Amino acid sequence: MSPKRPVVLITGGGRGIGAAVAQLAAARGYDVAINFKSDRASAEHVLETCRASGAAAVALPGDVTNENDVTRMFDEAEAALGRISHVVNNAGITGRSGRLEATAAETIRACIDINVLGALWVAREAARRLSTRQGGTGGSIVSISSVAARLGSAGEYVWYAASKGAIDSLTIGLSQELAADGIRVNAVSPGITRTDIHERSTGDAGRMERFRSKIPLNRIGEPEEIAEAVLFLMSDAASYITGANIPVSGGR
Ligand code: NAP
Repeated sequence: MSPKRPVVLITGGGRGIGAAVAQLAAARGYDVAINFKSDRASAEHVLETCRASGAAAVALPGDVTNENDVTRMFDEAEAALGRISHVVNNAGITGRSGRLEATAAETIRACIDINVLGALWVAREAARRLSTRQGGTGGSIVSISSVAARLGSAGEYVWYAASKGAIDSLTIGLSQELAADGIRVNAVSPGITRTDIHERSTGDAGRMERFRSKIPLNRIGEPEEIAEAVLFLMSDAASYITGANIPVSGGR
């Protein structure tokens, strides 16, 4: 019998960085649970490419802001693929760009709800399921933060930068809390990466190109380049790394 493949659940795995993580994980020998919120067609396309790499894969609808959805998606992933060993906390939005004073409460609340509370619900469920003290296999959690956490995103979306600051704190604290449970907890902080988030979420179609000159490597990052850092942190090659946060930002 072939050895059991590790199982990774990726929130927001149907598009952008999450999709690139799912596809690279499948190619590197993981079975993959792809969560999406509303874009089923994109998630199913990613599912097919994962299966074409030889992975068992499922696509699971669910809103990370809803605790019951989070529990259900872990249940369904484990029913389909077996015990989860890795979780990528990726789902996120920015909200329309603007100064704080001109931004509606619902824009800010939606961002905090998904990026902070959603990440907390997912990390909490991961802690419960992966912990070797609770019968889990151990493993790792990787959260997608942003260089915005330290740059601050003035004039664009300071609330989003603040939400990613919360992810950085969560990564430090949870890495210490879960070390004795066999769970490593790390983060990757992308810089500007080529996904739909810029147009769909910020509403600022020209954003990526406008920022190019501020990036020392003078180009936009590709989702696959973020996925490489995530897969490294998940892997045994990173077995002594916990509480780390790797910027993948072209030097920005
Ligand atoms: P994206 O292309 O807009 O994809 C976002 C993904 O999140 C989609 O799969 C979406 O699902 C999912 N999602 C949104 N709200 C959700 C919810 N409530 N529950 C479950 N899933 C939800 O964004 P991206 O650029 O790949 O961003 C991924 C992560 O990287 C985010 O945390 C973002 O903050 C971070 N990041 C991105 C950049 C960048 O330049 N792209 C830079 C720094 C950090 P649907 O497909 O169903 O809508």
